[in-house]
Amino acid sequence: MPHRPVSTSSRLAEVRYEIRGTLSHRARDLEAEGRRIVRLNIGNPGAFGFEAPKHIRESVTRSLPNSEAYCQQQGLPMAREAIAAQQRMRGSLSVDAERVFIGNGVSELIDLALRALLEAGDEVLVPAPDYPLWTAATILNGGKAVHYPCPAGRGHLPDVEEMAALITPRTRAIVLINPNNPTGATYPRELLGAIVALAERHQLVLLADEIYDGILYDGARFEPLAALAGDVPCLSFGGLSKVHRACGYRVGWFSVSGSRARVVDMLHAFDLLAALRLCGNVPGQWAIEPALQGADTISALTAPGGRLHDSRRAVLEAVERSRFLRVVAPAGALYAFPGVDTALIPDFDDEAFALHLLETEDVLIVPGSSFNVRYRNHFRITLLPRAEVIADVFGRIERALVRTAEV
Ligand code: PLP
Repeated sequence: MPHRPVSTSSRLAEVRYEIRGTLSHRARDLEAEGRRIVRLNIGNPGAFGFEAPKHIRESVTRSLPNSEAYCQQQGLPMAREAIAAQQRMRGSLSVDAERVFIGNGVSELIDLALRALLEAGDEVLVPAPDYPLWTAATILNGGKAVHYPCPAGRGHLPDVEEMAALITPRTRAIVLINPNNPTGATYPRELLGAIVALAERHQLVLLADEIYDGILYDGARFEPLAALAGDVPCLSFGGLSKVHRACGYRVGWFSVSGSRARVVDMLHAFDLLAALRLCGNVPGQWAIEPALQGADTISALTAPGGRLHDSRRAVLEAVERSRFLRVVAPAGALYAFPGVDTALIPDFDDEAFALHLLETEDVLIVPGSSFNVRYRNHFRITLLPRAEVIADVFGRIERALVRTAEV
């Protein structure tokens, strides 16, 4: 009998991560043929010439000799103290170092947290658009992602009544991504307060992905959810990848706030799951304390004159000039999520367009439907390239849009 390919888990059938999916593989093939692809699919500061602050890099290299043993499963105590102190300073008074878990990026911890929380068939409210790992990890851990809409017409913000209508007896948690990837929306305090009240009413856990917490434009404010959540169980996720431009260190964390009585079992579950994978990458953890206690190094990039500020402005100007595009100006994070006017291109298909753009203009973007929305007229682009690259890229996008409109 001939050998068949080894079968894989059927759970994977529903899981997508198009940020590094088919298009990105096609880009690699084109590069192998000698084409120069402008890759705008990943929020990876190091790939665009950004450097981690010197003081955190030096702390890692200085501490390498102390990094050869496993550390505690929760992470280095000194680093957890620094994270807990930051959380308390933000108003999340119940957090101490025992309520902090450090791992190999927020990615690992999203999976760990959902694994600890979900029974088969449990539901999680996830924003649409979302960072697609949240949907994928919910499914892979036996749960069901129920998407609450954050449409452009509302500045990509959710409506609390709509969220409430999606809650069932199986709902366990609400995911919030603030500042948001892919839309750049930042959530106002009143909205966050209303979401906390919803979680309190239905005994839900809040999962606050705040990995972009310091990346803010044009006077936008970041409101930490845990500071408003009081006794309501809330996991606040942060890391070194974005604000501290050190994706490759693979360091992220979450802290657990809420009344002791409500979070005690969760803490045991997190500790057990953290122990099963022994510990997170140790060298990178030495960057945490200097990163959180040192000077703010991201504001200079997002303030007027800073590179991210200029790139964001270049996106807004290019969209302004475009015949076809509209965008909600991102208030935070590293992306814009423009939409194509479907009055001008009625049967626009984001995936077909992204492939066409790649094949004809050597530009790699991520189709909007990769972020778990049903509409197909958006795409995500990162703000990380220099302003002149962005201007050039939008010239190519416009050419491809003109061709698409003519078909
Ligand atoms: N959460 C969001 C919203 C993200 O955008 C990302 C990465 O892009 C992550 C989590 C994962 O980050 P990391 O695993 O590098 O900490």
